Amino acid sequence: MNRTERRQLTDDIKRYTKAEGADLVGIAPMSRFEGAPKQMDPRYIMPDAKSCIVVGFRVLRGSLRGIEEGTFFSNYSSMGYGAITYTFMPVTVNNLSRNIEDMGYEAIPMGHMSDWRAIDNEGKLRTGFSKPVEQGKPAPDIMVHLRLAGFAAGLGEIGWSKMLITPEFGPAVRLGIVLTELELEPDPIYDGPQLCNRCMACVKACPGGAIAGQKTVKVNIAGHELEWGEIDCKKCDLYFRGGKPVDSSGEKGHYIFGKEEYKPNEISPFYQAPPKVYNAGKAICGAGGCTRSCIASLEKRDVLTKKFVNKFRRKKPWRVDWSNYQEEVAKLPEGTVGINTELDTD
Ligand code: SF4
Ligand code: SF4
Repeated sequence: MNRTERRQLTDDIKRYTKAEGADLVGIAPMSRFEGAPKQMDPRYIMPDAKSCIVVGFRVLRGSLRGIEEGTFFSNYSSMGYGAITYTFMPVTVNNLSRNIEDMGYEAIPMGHMSDWRAIDNEGKLRTGFSKPVEQGKPAPDIMVHLRLAGFAAGLGEIGWSKMLITPEFGPAVRLGIVLTELELEPDPIYDGPQLCNRCMACVKACPGGAIAGQKTVKVNIAGHELEWGEIDCKKCDLYFRGGKPVDSSGEKGHYIFGKEEYKPNEISPFYQAPPKVYNAGKAICGAGGCTRSCIASLEKRDVLTKKFVNKFRRKKPWRVDWSNYQEEVAKLPEGTVGINTELDTD
């Protein structure tokens, strides 16, 4: 295939992928993963891969509206999170891969598979999880860093919040990838108008203080030095579900089923964390710092190419008053919280 034919095929594949439901499609040649940590290097998954096709799905701003209002939380967890990750995205990357395999090239459709990864959020090997099948190989499963793949495929910048900030939708995007032995025409690394201007709105609005304001992480991808604020994943995991530790050992919390050390934080109106939806859910925080406040900031600076008639942030963010949590819970009928088995357990 000559270059003109490859360009034509690449354009056709992008058109097809968008017709299948994607909002963004970018191509990274595998060479852009040079230098990636072994446990995160997709070349160990498909050694003969030529291209990494990164597919982006927007999170609808409407899915965040109910949380902005403080009245409807399930839509972001379902339609804005779980349904994209576990329903829409797998269909699109699978259909794209079928199309490529019909041309005679292997293709791996990859959505969100992090539950099987060998490393934890800090990049350390999970104890007692898996071991390499032979010397020199990484332990299964490799975790491909989707946001960094998005950067490598030219879809946007990595912001201070470690989110991929796209020029179209800001950070409100979920990513899947297809690794394939088909060689496609790469996209250049994003070089458009500056998106993340280090405004620190994400840091200020993160309910758990999970995004560091000073301490950073630096990596080099495809010859570009990227830097972001260090993320405390344990804090994010608790606060994005709407929980926080009780204030003192004398206090008893009921927020997370079976664990008395957690109560609701100021961005959760729920006495007890609601159940999962679409195997994800519980994103009570609605990515208040890393997505919602970031969108508001990007929109204020008018750097997003996708325009709306009305602005995203229309009022000062609300906070729930839980200062009388212990007294409120004590007044609830017995069995209302803490032993409600209708709610799931993590
Ligand atoms: S909120 Fe500001 S600092 Fe944070 S990622 Fe967005 S643009 Fe960057
Ligand atoms: S999801 Fe929520 S808790 Fe986690 S980093 Fe984003 S704003 Fe902070």
